[in-house]
Amino acid sequence: TPTINNQIIQTIVTQMAEKIHQEKDYLTELDSAIGDADHGVNMDIGFQAVLQQLPQWDLDQLTLKALVKKIGFTLLDKIGGASGPLYGSFFMQLGKDLTDEKTVDLPTFYQMLNNGTAAIEKRGKVALEEKTMFDVLQPTVKYLIDHEAEPDYQQTLTNAQKVAQEAFDHTTTLFPKKGRAARLGEKGVDKADPGSASIKFLINIICDTLKD
Ligand code: ADP
Ligand code: MG
Ligand code: MG
Repeated sequence: TPTINNQIIQTIVTQMAEKIHQEKDYLTELDSAIGDADHGVNMDIGFQAVLQQLPQWDLDQLTLKALVKKIGFTLLDKIGGASGPLYGSFFMQLGKDLTDEKTVDLPTFYQMLNNGTAAIEKRGKVALEEKTMFDVLQPTVKYLIDHEAEPDYQQTLTNAQKVAQEAFDHTTTLFPKKGRAARLGEKGVDKADPGSASIKFLINIICDTLKD
């Protein structure tokens, strides 16, 4: 099984920045139907800022905890809107239980993802079935933790990607209860949630990177 280190985190955020940049118009289009048409723009500003700062960080010296904190702080600072504090606390809290580790094993990394998910839950004061990114992240991370002992970890990661896709599709059917979309009420049903789309991209990149 893979060992997670700063290089892997760097690969994940770099690929996420590229994906967000490619899908910027798609995310903004989703947000124009249900919010204020800025999710793609917000996310692109945040992840491009991370891309710009990464070369200035000494990845050989930084602990994992320090690196994810820097990423989270940059996202918190630059994304803005509702999603800035959510993505920011997700990354900042990934390292909550770490001390000076430079590498962690896969079950520990899954626990880190769980800490990030709990941070979004707390910061967003969000529950399941409220049509947010939490609806996609929570079941996917739970699946990974529930199956962390399976010998075929690559199959588990593939299955988790299916869980994320199904959760995203389900989110589309929900009545919006949080953020700007909540103001739409019934009109928000049958529309995809932009934050659920961006978090699905992040999950897919994490799973693909760990499978490699
Ligand atoms: P804003 O709504 O301020 O313009 P964005 O458009 O960048 O911010 O992000 C909107 C996304 O944030 C939504 O699609 C939803 O997934 C997520 N979101 C909004 N409010 C919450 C919340 N309280 N808890 C969790 N996620 C939320
Ligand atoms: Mg918006
Ligand atoms: Mg906005």
